Amino acid sequence: MWKRDDVPHSGWSCVGIIDLCEPVGVCEMCGYQIIRYVHKMAHPQYQRMLGVGCVCAGRMEGSPEAARKRERDFKNRSARYENYKKRKWRTSGKGNSYLKIRNHIIVLFPMKGGDKWGFSLDGVFSESAYPSKESASDGAFDALCRAENK
Ligand SMILES: [Zn+2]
Repeated sequence: MWKRDDVPHSGWSCVGIIDLCEPVGVCEMCGYQIIRYVHKMAHPQYQRMLGVGCVCAGRMEGSPEAARKRERDFKNRSARYENYKKRKWRTSGKGNSYLKIRNHIIVLFPMKGGDKWGFSLDGVFSESAYPSKESASDGAFDALCRAENK
C-alpha cells in the first residue's frame, strides 16, 4: 500500500486497537509485518479502515511515538483488566458483591425492578444500567481506570 498512489500515506488517525491474542495478523499497509495488536486506521479520503502494525501506524499518522504510546497503554490496560478479572469478590452484609482494590471500593448491585445491574465506585453510583452483573463489573473497571488516571 505504501507504493500505491491511490492510498494516502499520511493524515490517518487511529480509531482503536484490537488484540488478536497471538501474532496472527498481517499489517494491511505494508503487507508483511506480522502483528498481534491491530491499529485500526481511518482516513477521510479513503473508503475503508486499514488494520496495521505499530510501525506503519506511526508513519500513517505522522507520529511513531504516539503509536508506540497507544500500544503500550493498551497493553497496560489489558494486563490490568486480566488482573481485575482474577480478583475474588466478597459479599457485603446486604448481600452485594464488593471488591477492595488498592484504595478503592467497588460494589455491584441489582437495580430496582430486577433485570439490570449497577455499580458504585467509592460510593459514587454508575450513571448507566447494565444488562448483567458481568457487564456492570466491566463498567466498574472502566470507571476505576478513569479514577486512577486522574
Ligand atoms: Zn506495516
